Order: sequence, then C-alpha cells, then structure tokens
Amino acid sequence: MSDNTLGIVYVVATPIGNLEDLSPRAARLLGEVALIAAEDTRHTARLLRHLGLAVPLLSLHEHNEAARVDQLDERLLRGESIALVSDAGTPLISDPGFVLVRELRRRGRRIVPVPGACALVAALSAAGLPTDRFLFQGFLPAKPGARRQRLEALLERSETLVFYESPHRIRETLAAMAALFGKRRMVLARELTKTFETFLDGDAAAILACMEAYPDQARGEFVIMLAGAESRDEAQSAKVEGAALLAALLAEGVGVKQAASIAARLLGGAKKGWYAQAQTLKEKR
Ligand code: SAM
Repeated sequence: MSDNTLGIVYVVATPIGNLEDLSPRAARLLGEVALIAAEDTRHTARLLRHLGLAVPLLSLHEHNEAARVDQLDERLLRGESIALVSDAGTPLISDPGFVLVRELRRRGRRIVPVPGACALVAALSAAGLPTDRFLFQGFLPAKPGARRQRLEALLERSETLVFYESPHRIRETLAAMAALFGKRRMVLARELTKTFETFLDGDAAAILACMEAYPDQARGEFVIMLAGAESRDEAQSAKVEGAALLAALLAEGVGVKQAASIAARLLGGAKKGWYAQAQTLKEKR
C-alpha cells in the first residue's frame, strides 16, 4: 500500500509523430504535476508550448538518471507529483526511465502508467504478422560482429521479431538480415503516424532493393518486423499444401505464370519460387 501523502510518478506516453495521439488524460496530467522529468527538455518544451502549458522541466537521460533518483524522490516525499516523459512514445521502451522506475518502486513509491503511442505496438497492429507472440529486440548492436551474433541467436525463434532502427543504419541492418534470414517475410514500418508513413512488405533483400531505387524510403524512423521461424511441421505442411494447389491449377489448364501468381497470393512467398515449382510440376506431368 502506498502512502497517500506522497506524490505520484506518472509515466506518460507522448506522440511518436502525430500530436493528436496525446491522450486527454496525458495532457491533463502534464498540466497538473509539479515537475516533468524529460529526456530532452527542449524537445518536451515544444510539446508543452503546443499544449499551452508551462510546467518546470528537469532533464533525465541515460547519463544522469541514477543521480536524479534521490532528487526526484525528495519531491515525492514532499507530496509533489512528477511526470516522466521521453522524446517520443512510451518512456522506458528503448528510452530512459528504467533505473528511476525500478528504484522508486523498490522504495514503495506509487508509479502510474499513462499509456499512449508506442512505435512497436503501432507497427505490429498494422503489419499483418502474428501478434499473439512477439519478441521485441529494440536496437541491434552497432558493430557488425555483435549484430550478426544477435541475429544468429534469433534464427530459430518462432515469435514475430521486432526491432527499432535509425536511418543511419537501416541499410546495413537490412543487408545483415537478408544474409541470415533469406526469404523470410519482413514488414518495415516507416514514419508511423507522420505524413510519409509507409509499410513495405516483402523480404529483407526486396525491401533493401526498394530503398536503393527510392532513397526517400531510407529516411525517417523504422520498425522492422520479421516473421518467426516456421516449425518443421508447419514448413512441411505448407510445402504439401502449395504443391497440391499448383498441381490442381495446372490440371485445370491454368498457365505456369498464373498458377505461380495465384499460389503467391493465397499462400504468400515469392512468385519466383512458385514459378520454378510450377514449371517443374508441369514438366513432370
Ligand atoms: N519510446 C519510443 C516508443 O515508445 O516507441 C521509442 C524510442 S526509440 C529511442 C526511437 C526508435 O523508435 C526509432 O529509432 C524507431 O526505430 C522507433 N520509432 C519511434 N517513432 C517512430 C515512428 N514514428 N515511426 C517508426 N518508428 C518509430
């Protein structure tokens, strides 16, 4: 049980692009607290100006987070409530706040989430990849060796894999994924909730090729989502199902090209692969 005379820490999600995504509750609480601990005070000052609020700000980022704990706790002990925000989206999700929240919760302070935008949830909600189980990996290591090692460790995972990436490294990361994951389905969400929001759907190599052809597609912020590994049983039954469909189409007189296109539409996967399979089946008939 928390002491009612103590202040509360509100962990407030802010927009990831579209300012309309700030909830009315978040806006009200930002105006009611005594202090806002913000990843970048200049960035949050712009949001406050937009809301017509003037609330004292205190910087809280990965380099000073531990040192801020006692200072913020003193305010709570005086009965003042605090909001914790990051530059965009939900604090603690690839953003500062974990050290503060862990320590204040350990001390028995009341921590209240104020949910809202989060890039990984927004991306998954519109990608059309399984969401019953997913594995969020945040940012991959910057060094090629460490990145490859992390990706190799994920190859057999059957959950949908979710990563954050910046425009500086998107090409390198896609190339590393293409080398390891081959034709595995990928959905890339870019600039969510913003004017140039885009979803690219294919595999890593195809999406990278699209970026080379349209360099604008390499700009902005990204959530990369990869389908999980198929179990041996699933892979086997998909193969059987695909072969049966192609055989039935060819038997009905459908051409190889069209059969491949129908199989790709119904069962997913690259048209090229279906074409080769249909061609082999036709030759055997
Ligand atoms: N706390 C944030 C959240 O709740 O999503 C994430 C902060 S993390 C430092 C920033 C990364 O999140 C970006 O590099 C990108 O991968 C992802 N991201 C944030 N906003 C995004 C957007 N509008 N569209 C796509 N990805 C976004």
